[in-house]
Amino acid sequence: MLPLAGAVPAQGQAIPEHDIRVDLDPVSGDIRIEDRLRIGGRENFYFILEAWLEIESLSIDGAISTPRQAGEGWRVALPDLGVHELDFVLAGTVPPRAPEQAELTASRGADGAFLPAYENWIPRDPEVPMHYRLQVSVPSEQRAVATGKLLEEATRDGRRIAVFEQASPGEAPSLFAGPYRVSESLRDGLRLRTYFHDELQQFADAYLAAARAYIERYAIEIGAYPYTDFDVVSAPLPVGLGFPNLAYVGRRVIPLPFMRGRSLAHEVLHNWWGNGVEVDYRNGNWAEGLTTYMADYALERDKGKAEARSMRIRWLRDYAALPAARDRPVREFRAKRHQASQVIGYNKTAFVFHMLELEIGRRAFADGLRLFWQRHRFGKAGWGDLQAAFEEVSGRPLGWFFSQWLDRPGAPRLSLGEHRVERVGTDYRTRIDILQPVAGYRFHLPVLLVTADGRERQEIEVSESVTRLEWLTDARPLSIQLDPDSDLFRQLQTNEAPPILRDITLDPTAATIIDSADDAFAGVARELAARLFETEPHIESLSRAEIPPRPLLLIARSEDLPQLLAGLHLAIPDQLPSGDYRAAAWTARLPGGKPALVVSATDAAELRALLRPLPHYGGQSYVLFADGRALDQGIWPITRGALYRDLGGE
Ligand SMILES: [Zn+2]
Repeated sequence: MLPLAGAVPAQGQAIPEHDIRVDLDPVSGDIRIEDRLRIGGRENFYFILEAWLEIESLSIDGAISTPRQAGEGWRVALPDLGVHELDFVLAGTVPPRAPEQAELTASRGADGAFLPAYENWIPRDPEVPMHYRLQVSVPSEQRAVATGKLLEEATRDGRRIAVFEQASPGEAPSLFAGPYRVSESLRDGLRLRTYFHDELQQFADAYLAAARAYIERYAIEIGAYPYTDFDVVSAPLPVGLGFPNLAYVGRRVIPLPFMRGRSLAHEVLHNWWGNGVEVDYRNGNWAEGLTTYMADYALERDKGKAEARSMRIRWLRDYAALPAARDRPVREFRAKRHQASQVIGYNKTAFVFHMLELEIGRRAFADGLRLFWQRHRFGKAGWGDLQAAFEEVSGRPLGWFFSQWLDRPGAPRLSLGEHRVERVGTDYRTRIDILQPVAGYRFHLPVLLVTADGRERQEIEVSESVTRLEWLTDARPLSIQLDPDSDLFRQLQTNEAPPILRDITLDPTAATIIDSADDAFAGVARELAARLFETEPHIESLSRAEIPPRPLLLIARSEDLPQLLAGLHLAIPDQLPSGDYRAAAWTARLPGGKPALVVSATDAAELRALLRPLPHYGGQSYVLFADGRALDQGIWPITRGALYRDLGGE
């Protein structure tokens, strides 16, 4: 029985209670489902079932009943608006997983079965949250796990039985089963488990420890973890899916460090944002951006200011690469369908939270998140509810902020106008115009002035198309830089977007130059170029002694590099970290402004070792290797761009 006392009926309807028993063979797919559903406040019940399930029987309050086919689903009439008990018996075969299956529908195989909440494998009203108790029975060599609190486990008659419960109203259960081995960490009322395939056992402890650390972190930052369990389940599919109190992670990516780091933090945080508070999709999805900000980004910020800044620059860099026609307002983002929606729904949205934190202060930002959590835990909330919470804690109207960043596509553009430096008595007066050709944005803009004596910072409010900045210093001003740390979401201009590998490798017109003195080296270089471009490269020779007006890939032996670079009017960038690397890939701009990618290696073997890893670093400005292992990587900082001015002190 479910502890339902005090459950508040929605729209006069009691929250549906499901008491479900599932017998599943994950290998053959045979499934039998008994669902006793208590439901009330309605004259009839409409539900949809997946085509692979059949209704064996249905009784209402003990009397046999026959559902009528209605549209895509079924309808049964209920005697009156009171609470009724519907007993369903369903049977069928879960479909086998197709090779390379792209759709994440219900599936089974020898390595695992998957019955997600969004598939219709129990009769339910998808519009209304539910309580459930779910008992699953699988053959003894298998283990089953579902969303919800684990109540009990037993082995009976050669079958393993596990019972799960969802006592707070929420989505339908998601069920997983497979040849798993279970590891557990039980402490402070929190049960953490991994359900991993055999080969992954060595990673179980690290996952349990990491999950606990993330849960504790977000409990402090937001509010108590809303569930009693958290499970990481190994998926035969190449996925990373978050469910309430459970992450379903592709078995091939579980060994990778990023999965246990940033990706696990992201999935853990979805227990608060997305599951604990559900997204009211009617006006957009705030949860991905907030989760990206508080998980992926916050972990970078823990490492240091430079790392946090690099992530913001990467978001700006990605946004700059988004064609204007594919740009959308943040509020239109619902779910990730392609790269373009990720650039807006994850990255731009996370950047908006960064600006909000700067706007109202760290304290108010943290308080606002906690207030939002307290108010909407186990409910649905939208952007308006977030705005209301932040307005309340900061005591400031924020409508202008949310509407300019969420309702408009695009981003501010900035540039520097005329400048003038004058002596005023013993001081210097610097005047410069800040130009904002796209009108209507309002923001605080940090400005850095470098003088003969050091650095000075100011923050100015920009809202007009021309903002005149006047600055009095006693030392001679040398240069000025707007937004030195990239704190403002804006449209980068071509000359300031730091080139990344992809700028060259995605351009079908790019030219490739190979140092051909060494045949073995040249052979590997051609292979590498083909890998990078994913097509036959346009190989040109440098003997023409002219720089092509196109993006350029240069592959050379390290010892020949200085001479070749000189011929192209390039040099090894000062910012390239020094170190014990034996191969390097880095980008630069050619004199005409086109990007160049320079790949060098000490010999053919070191170059060959790049064949596999290098194509994975398309988002970087440089990567350093030894033996094919990446030692260091990064994106060039935005420094001498359109927002930098040399004030030309003599
Ligand atoms: Zn997410």
